[in-house]
Amino acid sequence: MQLPDTGNFSALVREKMRQPDAVFMCCDDGRVFSYADYWSLSGRIANGLAAHSVGVGDRVAVQVGKSVEALATFLACARLGAIFLPLNTAYTPAEVSYFVHDAEPALIICEPEKFAALAPMAKGRCQVLTLDDAGGGSLVEALQKQPDVFADAALTWDDAIAILYTSGTTGKSKGALLSHGNLASNALTLAKTWGFTAKDVLIHALPVYHTHGLFTATNTVLLSGGNLLFRRRFDVDDVMSLLPQATTMMGVPTFYTRLLKQDKLTRELVQHMRLFISGSAPLLAETHAKFHDRTGHAILERYGMTETNMNTSNPYVGIRKPGTVGLPLAGVEVRITDPASGTALPQGEIGMIEVRGPNVFKGYWRNPEKTAQEIRADGFFITGDLGQFDKDGYLSISGRGKDLVITGGFNVYPREIETEIDLFPEVLESAVIGLPHPDLGEGVTAIIVLKSGHAAMDEAAMVLELQKRLAKFKVPKRFIAVSELPRNAMGKVQKNLLREAYASLFQPQRRPV
Ligand code: AMP
Repeated sequence: MQLPDTGNFSALVREKMRQPDAVFMCCDDGRVFSYADYWSLSGRIANGLAAHSVGVGDRVAVQVGKSVEALATFLACARLGAIFLPLNTAYTPAEVSYFVHDAEPALIICEPEKFAALAPMAKGRCQVLTLDDAGGGSLVEALQKQPDVFADAALTWDDAIAILYTSGTTGKSKGALLSHGNLASNALTLAKTWGFTAKDVLIHALPVYHTHGLFTATNTVLLSGGNLLFRRRFDVDDVMSLLPQATTMMGVPTFYTRLLKQDKLTRELVQHMRLFISGSAPLLAETHAKFHDRTGHAILERYGMTETNMNTSNPYVGIRKPGTVGLPLAGVEVRITDPASGTALPQGEIGMIEVRGPNVFKGYWRNPEKTAQEIRADGFFITGDLGQFDKDGYLSISGRGKDLVITGGFNVYPREIETEIDLFPEVLESAVIGLPHPDLGEGVTAIIVLKSGHAAMDEAAMVLELQKRLAKFKVPKRFIAVSELPRNAMGKVQKNLLREAYASLFQPQRRPV
């Protein structure tokens, strides 16, 4: 979407807020926020942040549960000119310390129970405040005396608004630096593409530390004047009970597989809904078909990533092709290139997906080398995903260039887990792969070679130890001991062979007839 020459994200939110008394959020704790309430809350938080010496360009690291206050802290940062840095709540303090060291935030906001572990990380003028998912904590106490009115900083589309860390296969996470213009242009484009209006009621059950829940779902509604049914987590019974009042839902494929297990999911139940959207991981064509059979709705699948916001979408009006992620969004260019040479490939061939447009991030935080490696001189970002266009211009994703595992919508980078597993004294080497999982999309699986003299491994002890070091979603669901890993002539582990060999590990067993 073409933005006006001047502006910034918060100025756009204020301009679009045509009915301040309209309801913006209905929360599962019973609280209701109008647009005016939400704007005032963000003003109060902005004043609170400023009182803690947070200024333009400062980072605010936030590792908290889902709450209105957490989301409003993002808008407060945008109004202040600070850079919002959300962190997955599953990250352990050891993992958080890497991000704090790299981003050097001026303020850390964490859950009260993590305060003791995170407080020692605050160096220099950095302070640590707390926020719980019921809207309590020292941040909220500090806001009591703050006014609602805040004089927004004079910012441009090009100013930084957020850093979202993406794990890297090299083991080091990179911070994707997003601008006011990146978020504004993408939200306006999505609202138009998907037909959002002030009449929409969106079920929001995604986490708000990831681009999907934080930006895609929230900003599309925020700029359309609609209403969010804001749930702290995805609870299938709760979401089933919301369907009759909602018009739209955005979810990861796991949401849809869980809904399909409910007998009460019928056409009648969803007759008020106009659109179901899926993304963040591949939606199986089978799930698409089953959902269509049960509800009459063709789930709209789209494709995006932390660094680029959304890139492509199946059409709102027109054919939604299962197994594809649709057409490039207006203003977004997508090309397929030869991964080795970078030259454009003809239609139909599989290659690297590259993306250019106002949605594409500015670069990696304090990492010009990585930025130069992944954003070409002509502005195209090398996504790392492989894909192909069909004759109608629909994109399908063939696989991930690197061996990223996506489990329940979360990315797991095998190398990080392998490094931890290899530290166990009985382990010689390991390969972590994702295997088809009926609920999670992929189940993290560790293939392990034991050192000679070790006949078995203590799986339970390994899990306990790994849970101390890694976020829970990264800990393998299964461990398999093998005598050696398959390797190619260059000595690289052939993970494709492992994936084939154990493809049915998580599949339900068929009874012999
Ligand atoms: P993240 O940065 O966490 O949002 O993860 C982005 C990655 O998720 C992309 O690079 C893709 O590999 C994957 N992804 C996102 N949407 C889809 C989709 N609809 N189908 C398949 N993979 C997807």
